[in-house]
Amino acid sequence: MSADPGIVIIGASLAGATAAQALRLDHGYDRPITLVGDEPHLPYQRPALSKGYLLGTSGPGALDVLKPRFYADQDVTLALGAPATALDLDARRVRLADGTEFPFTRVLIATGARPRRLQVPGADLDGVRYLRNRDDAEHLAAALRAAGEVVVIGAGWLGSELAAASRAFGNHTTVIDPLPAPLYYVLGDQLGGLVARRHRDQGVNLLLGDGVEAILGTRSVEAVQTITGRTIPADLVIVCVGATPNTELARAAGLHVDGGILTDAHLRTSHPAAVAAGDVARHQHPRYLNPVRIEHWDNAVIHGTAAAATLLGKPPTIDHVPYFFSTQYGSTLEYLGLPTIWDRIVIRGEHATPGFTAFWLDHGIPVAALTIDHQGAADHLRTLIAAARPAAPRQLADPGTPLPDLLPDAPSRTSRDLRAGA
Ligand SMILES: Cc1cc2nc3c(=O)[nH]c(=O)nc-3n(C[C@H](O)[C@H](O)[C@H](O)COP(=O)(O)OP(=O)(O)OC[C@H]3O[C@@H](n4cnc5c(N)ncnc54)[C@H](O)[C@@H]3O)c2cc1C
Repeated sequence: MSADPGIVIIGASLAGATAAQALRLDHGYDRPITLVGDEPHLPYQRPALSKGYLLGTSGPGALDVLKPRFYADQDVTLALGAPATALDLDARRVRLADGTEFPFTRVLIATGARPRRLQVPGADLDGVRYLRNRDDAEHLAAALRAAGEVVVIGAGWLGSELAAASRAFGNHTTVIDPLPAPLYYVLGDQLGGLVARRHRDQGVNLLLGDGVEAILGTRSVEAVQTITGRTIPADLVIVCVGATPNTELARAAGLHVDGGILTDAHLRTSHPAAVAAGDVARHQHPRYLNPVRIEHWDNAVIHGTAAAATLLGKPPTIDHVPYFFSTQYGSTLEYLGLPTIWDRIVIRGEHATPGFTAFWLDHGIPVAALTIDHQGAADHLRTLIAAARPAAPRQLADPGTPLPDLLPDAPSRTSRDLRAGA
């Protein structure tokens, strides 16, 4: 074995595999790389788990993060099927549940997140399901095929996609959310209302401003009882109430953790041997006042790539405009920015017509945007938001002004600058 034990990556998924690829292919790193994953599968992508893979329109091959032969070709050791259970950062060793130990010079922690559990009576009945991994998706697809009455709890991105999937399987579908609109924290009333209309147009029974009191049944689910006293029949309940970062290993290793593993703008943690990336990392983003933890595919790829450079002592600053995509009822929604503070929404075009875009402004500066079925728009919107300059609402609203022409000539001020009174 080489004198330098190399890099261990904990979490064999999107951020972890992307980092392994960047280490070998972008940086020509030639020391050992070990990719540790608790799942038995090669690193795979999760977005299709609530879309094509769930619906049966795409197969497992389409999920691969990297070509299966990459790992052997690039001499990346895979240690799959057992979680890392102990991380000693000073001794620079990680131990897995099966007793295997790996030494390292540096470690990347990319352990992702897991579904937040519903805490109500009946939540452990058969027929209550969550979706995070490939095995969950396979079981959920079988359950959706067999179900008739489906209740989705939570109308965020995942809940909205799963309501659409449930309708595609032909199920009676109810969505319950305590907030006044789907995706309320991201989109607010007006645009969330638009998502609500799409659900209702597709036959979803959307119960807003209501919560779950209990799940009823003897052995398996029979109904959901809501806080306002409704009883909704159900033979399948899908819980989509957010995710919790997998920080236990990092916390036990002594790293600073607060709603995610805290990192600086280069993904460095509170220990010099450890870097964190992807859904588990809460990074100090130069655009925002507080550290952000972002559960987006795009963020995991950007983090994975950047983490490779940081692990090698060439830390880039990560200041990308966050980007999320979602497919619901055959439409693609793309959202850029973060739902931080805004004081005005400007709408371009009519809903359900090509080019429809919503802009969220803070002091006249576009800080977020949503576009629906508008191929190619995301890059222009990213540039506009990244510029952090005031834009004329009349031009933003005018579909006749091409998106590339919207970039104003004014000094840039990020949300962080505005809050700091700059
Ligand atoms: C169903 C679903 C649909 C999604 N759809 C979209 C979408 O449409 N658009 C979008 O932008 N984003 C989407 N996302 C989010 C996106 O997939 C995530 O942001 C991305 O997967 C994060 O990658 P990651 O590598 O940081 O974490 P993860 O993908 O969560 O991977 C972390 C890995 O680490 C493993 N692990 C955890 N603890 C340990 C341990 N102690 N030892 C070893 N391994 C460990 C986990 O089991 C997992 O395999 C979706 C996510 C889900 C679950």
